[in-house]
Amino acid sequence: MSLPGFEKKTVSVLLPIPTDGAYSYGVPDGLELSPGDYVKVPLGNRELAAVVWDKQDNTVDPKKIRDVILKFDCPPMKQEMRKFIEWVAGYTVSHPGMVLKMFLRVPTALEPEAPMKGLMFTDKQPERLTPARRQVMEFSEQGLSWTKSGLAHAAGVTASVVDGLAKQGVMKTIELPPQPLFPKPDSTYGTTKLTPDQQEKADALREIVGQKKSGTTLLEGITGSGKTEVYFEALAECFSQGKQALVLLPEIALTSSFLERFEKRFGARPAEWHSELAPRAREKTWRQVITGELQIVAGARSSLFLPFKDLGLIIIDEEHDLAYKQEDRVFYNARDMAVVRGQIENFPVILCSATPAIETRVNAQLDRYAYLKLESRYGEAILPDLDIVDMRKNPPAKGKFLSPLITKAIEETIARKEQALLFLNRRGYAPLTLCRVCGHRFECNNCSAWLVEHRFRKTLQCHHCGDSKPTPEACPECGTLDHLVACGPGVERLGEEVIEAFPEARTIILSSDMAGGVKRMRLELDAIAKGEADIIIGTQLVAKGHNFPLMTLVGVVDADLGLSNGDPRAAERTFQLLHQVTGRAGRAGGKSRGLLQSYQPEHPVISAIKAADTEAFYEREIDARRLSSLPPFGRLAAIIISGQDRRETETYARALRHACPHTKEVRVLGPAEAPLALVRGRYRFRLLVHAPRSFAVQNWLRAWFKDGPKPRGNIRVQTDIDPQSFV
Ligand code: ADP
Ligand code: ZN
Repeated sequence: MSLPGFEKKTVSVLLPIPTDGAYSYGVPDGLELSPGDYVKVPLGNRELAAVVWDKQDNTVDPKKIRDVILKFDCPPMKQEMRKFIEWVAGYTVSHPGMVLKMFLRVPTALEPEAPMKGLMFTDKQPERLTPARRQVMEFSEQGLSWTKSGLAHAAGVTASVVDGLAKQGVMKTIELPPQPLFPKPDSTYGTTKLTPDQQEKADALREIVGQKKSGTTLLEGITGSGKTEVYFEALAECFSQGKQALVLLPEIALTSSFLERFEKRFGARPAEWHSELAPRAREKTWRQVITGELQIVAGARSSLFLPFKDLGLIIIDEEHDLAYKQEDRVFYNARDMAVVRGQIENFPVILCSATPAIETRVNAQLDRYAYLKLESRYGEAILPDLDIVDMRKNPPAKGKFLSPLITKAIEETIARKEQALLFLNRRGYAPLTLCRVCGHRFECNNCSAWLVEHRFRKTLQCHHCGDSKPTPEACPECGTLDHLVACGPGVERLGEEVIEAFPEARTIILSSDMAGGVKRMRLELDAIAKGEADIIIGTQLVAKGHNFPLMTLVGVVDADLGLSNGDPRAAERTFQLLHQVTGRAGRAGGKSRGLLQSYQPEHPVISAIKAADTEAFYEREIDARRLSSLPPFGRLAAIIISGQDRRETETYARALRHACPHTKEVRVLGPAEAPLALVRGRYRFRLLVHAPRSFAVQNWLRAWFKDGPKPRGNIRVQTDIDPQSFV
């Protein structure tokens, strides 16, 4: 209780909720709180983990102020990190609380780790020495502590034998201190002999990391040029300074080969951070990141919001990858935010890619980023010879999808005991199913999308909302039996064609929705690397970073896919993807081939890939962006308005559009019905804001939202700065 005349001490606290700023809370007597402290506070009838924020003068009725419940026993959030949160919120036009929420993904990690119970032998001897007990007693000499199950396992007895001995006082229970998840990496453990070109780039990176200053470097190099080997040297430098490092990877759950390579180089595995991580491991990782016990994390985009104690370096592998863009709640690009985190915390950031994003390339050309380029593949490895299969001249047989040219190439490849990869970025059996009698098309009830047949599971699925139903035998419209027909190919259907053509070959179909999940996928990828398959059919996920030494043929089933959907980034995306896919071939030396099936071989993107002319592609694309002031020469922001009622949503979108501040430099397009107009039962409209690069578009948007009509009911407005996807 405070005496009359004495004001109660208060602090600002940022909560992980969508509000504009921090709230005031009272400080109970005896509690010392400073900005950055993790605290538990009441909110309504909930209790939330939150962070004491830098003082903000929000006037609150003192009678309404509630007290902080407790302060967690955990190192505080650094001032730089609080600044980073404010920055991300400002840039993405989000609530700081929602950015904080990404830092507080594992609130249970704030409680100290429950100590593990261990057992230790005393001097007491067991009352009766049965053979099982004798086996346990063999371990009594060493004076070590054991876990119960560990001891039982080591002695080859059941846990009840150990229990019995403990009851007699032969062992006493002790508390084992929390164990580090992984040993620290050793910079000198397994060094690689680099080529002169690699060494030069590695030295440059070591020097950059040695300066302990902010700054971004683009490390470009074709697939197989040894980018990973080179950036390992940057990591080595960072570890020898005793600092922490973060490596972002697009498909971390699938890159077990990265973890193994890291272990070979540094003698310890990196901690992983991704959605597949078990809750206990997640807690432990978070805690050891904040205390600095963990020196290296390899993670998905969300690992950017880990509370590192002393981060010295972030590396973003495959920096152009769309997996870094979150399009949900806070729309952010982990690559761009990593660059900012580096600036705020004053450490370098390295971006790696064989096909950098146009933005990154331009930043490098304008000297905003340092630029290092590896010119050739390592060792014997040479890039595959690329050919376009003109599908107008070499069409597949009726109802088939592979040109005879590709089938012949597969035949030759497997005859040489080498591997062939067929790439098709379409999951399931067929992208569209219709009835041959009435023409009924199977469409999702919640989304404006065709249902995709998954023949293996006998379901029709929506790839946008995940809705799924059994494939019916009769048409729901006209009732005719057995007249449904699949249109177009998916990987399952392609698999059927391949197995029919090559019944003897070992064929594996890999797709991200495969039964068995990540575990199975890792096994399959390992099996392929070991040569346990002849023909691999896969979607995007096989394109990413895997090393398949026996792969000498890559066939792209539909190179045109994605070129014709009106997306301003379509050319860039297709170029990157095809480059990456064909780069799977020939990584172990020897001749290899890439064949791209196309109905428009004269398209500039297709011909740039054929000519392996990366520079020509970038020049053309950068010019085109400059001419139309598209990013990075101008700014784009998308406003996505969604709601359950189509008319209401559209009416609101129009009203919002109407209320936009008039500014000469800014163009607002729309509202347009989003190409995927209905998703998960919500109708979507988009406004697209196009502004000059120098224009502070965030402030402008905030002013617009503040003065414009407020969304009511279930209508939601989301802002996507630098949109990457236009669906
Ligand atoms: P990138 O990341 O550019 O695709 P990697 O670093 O994965 O290239 O290298 C491709 C392959 O070549 C890997 O198997 C890697 O181990 C090998 N490699 C690259 N450089 C060297 C080197 N200096 N010594 C031994 N192996 C190397
Ligand atoms: Zn759907």
